[in-house]
Amino acid sequence: IFYADSGSVAVEVAMKMAIQASISKTGATKKVNFATIRSGYHGDTWNAMSVCDPVTGMHSLFGPALTPRYFVQTPSCGFYDEWDESCFDEMENVVKEHAPELAGIILEPVVQGAGGMKFYHPNYLKKLREICDKYDIYLIFDEIATGFGRTGKLFASEHAGVQPDIMCIGKSLTGGYLTMSAVATTKDVADTISRGEAGVLMHGPTFMGNPLACAIAIESINLLQKNDWHANVMRIEKILKEEMAIAKTFDCIDDVRVLGAIGVLQTKKSIDVGQFQKFCVKEGIWIRPFGKVAYVMPPFIISDDDLKFLVRKFLKIIKEIC
Ligand code: PLP
Repeated sequence: IFYADSGSVAVEVAMKMAIQASISKTGATKKVNFATIRSGYHGDTWNAMSVCDPVTGMHSLFGPALTPRYFVQTPSCGFYDEWDESCFDEMENVVKEHAPELAGIILEPVVQGAGGMKFYHPNYLKKLREICDKYDIYLIFDEIATGFGRTGKLFASEHAGVQPDIMCIGKSLTGGYLTMSAVATTKDVADTISRGEAGVLMHGPTFMGNPLACAIAIESINLLQKNDWHANVMRIEKILKEEMAIAKTFDCIDDVRVLGAIGVLQTKKSIDVGQFQKFCVKEGIWIRPFGKVAYVMPPFIISDDDLKFLVRKFLKIIKEIC
């Protein structure tokens, strides 16, 4: 486990790990690029930006300065859909064609957050694991937003029963009290890097493993476990499903989706954030929409009454701005 200071830095570190291990393992100095899926979000530092969605991310501002990556369509098979093998076709073709250049594939497992709040089928990850093994490509899961129970599993990759080679965690690691992240990897990746030219992972932030942040992370994880996070997330999921279902009948709503402690409303047209937030102030709740998506990700300790209050006001606002 390598400690870092923020989610974005964890993503940088994960990508560096994959590159160092890839060169050390294969000797191929050209096997240093990455593939990912569209609608992803991985942070705002340089390489993290390069693997964010090229449309909703910052490619239009920094495009020519960013290393070009291979982007595959967002998985078309939703979390609750029946699995369709063709959903993986494009990824399979890209990997087959570009394997000699690919050190890693990075993506958010099952739930894509800030790039679109989309939930895709866990079988996609199973297929990805197989193809990464076949072509010597490191599989990187960015669990920075999904980790620590948010999707109903402690880590979202557990929906697929798939283990990545490299995993980024952040956000809930410290419950939001201090900035801290970590990159976990396998003994195989660590040993492969150690056998390489540098002999160590070439990254060393001043505040990595900061004792105060570590103490907070330990307490935060203790609290999570002590308070039966799973029962809480299931309780929240049930209420979100019950309370949000009615929004499917609203004219302006394209999709309503709930997974774990995440409730999303997707509108047909982009939401006017200024107008939306004026309603938020009036109604006494606070939600930040982006594009055609507005969502709630409440804390696991929220009471049933507070959650119902939040969702009912949320739907009221959506109805008004419709
Ligand atoms: N990866 C994911 C999936 C995220 O959701 C985020 C932040 O929203 C990041 C990376 C970047 O983390 P940070 O904002 O701590 O740099």
